[in-house]
Amino acid sequence: MSAPTPGTGPGDRPAVEAVDVTKSYGASRAVDGVSLAIRRGEFFGLLGPNGAGKSTLVEIMEGLRRADSGTVRVFGESPWPRNTRLLPRLGVQTQSSAFFVRQTVHEHLRTVAALFGADRAAVDATLETVGLAGRERVRVDDLSGGQRQRLAIASALVHGPELIFLDEPTAALDPEGRRDLWQVLRGLKAEGRTIVYTTHHLDEAEALCDRVGILVAGKLVVTDEPQHLIRTFGTGSRLLVPLGRLDEQQARELPGVDAVDVQGGHLVLETRATGRVLAAVDALTGLDGVQTRTASLEDVYLELTARGAAHPAPHATDNLEQQA
Ligand code: ADP
Repeated sequence: MSAPTPGTGPGDRPAVEAVDVTKSYGASRAVDGVSLAIRRGEFFGLLGPNGAGKSTLVEIMEGLRRADSGTVRVFGESPWPRNTRLLPRLGVQTQSSAFFVRQTVHEHLRTVAALFGADRAAVDATLETVGLAGRERVRVDDLSGGQRQRLAIASALVHGPELIFLDEPTAALDPEGRRDLWQVLRGLKAEGRTIVYTTHHLDEAEALCDRVGILVAGKLVVTDEPQHLIRTFGTGSRLLVPLGRLDEQQARELPGVDAVDVQGGHLVLETRATGRVLAAVDALTGLDGVQTRTASLEDVYLELTARGAAHPAPHATDNLEQQA
């Protein structure tokens, strides 16, 4: 696959720019005033509960749906009405990817490649990339769920697109397959491609994404780097102290402890001053059996989606435009 060449001048615009995009189905507003810019070469994760509007927003970016209002630019061009100049530059994998099931893996991918004018060498290289080399002669019908998923991803990549939309690509993969795919995705990013990634695996988003956007009820409640989100919204750390070592009241009174809870054989101490609380627990009971858990993107996500559902925040500030 050929690597994208970085643009110059006007070509340096973000890969995707959406301004105040809305889309309703009947009376129900699926996407509600979303503004967002995704940089070239960025690995961008779109997160949110089922029904939040992720697919609708992504389909608008892909040019598969028309927004009711607002503007969308992909590489500076409108993806709607169907923009044939953009198509070769985009790769799309969806949950309902279509396959030529009676063909072999190689035949299927050659057929897809031919639609975009990609050659046989691209087919072989892509099968290698997604870990399907050696399965070329297997009929698509006979692939496992995980292998089909890889073929769907290969079908989105075979023509060497600059911007790749992946919708829960690891959904059907076992843990080993997921980790293998992470390597593939990191490789695509290293080649300079832009990736828009929808996932429910928060660990995945934390490990892979440069930035994530969290959609709740059609609104983008936040757009930020995972680590920055964790620092900003995270609940700090949790210390798990085996029950019977401290009583709850004693734990609550330790300097630096924000909250105390009992969970599954442990007293859970929430703190933003981990060192101080660890030292205090050490002095009282020793640290044998005490575990620490740092805040994760999942904690932040659960907090923001619960809060967002109750009180949708104003649009997330996306300061890309100022930086550009
Ligand atoms: P997500 O991808 O986050 O699960 P969707 O974009 O699929 O969210 O859906 C957002 C909202 O729009 C949901 O309430 C869903 O029921 C509704 N919706 C999605 N597609 C359609 C459609 N074609 N017709 C009517 N309602 C739809």
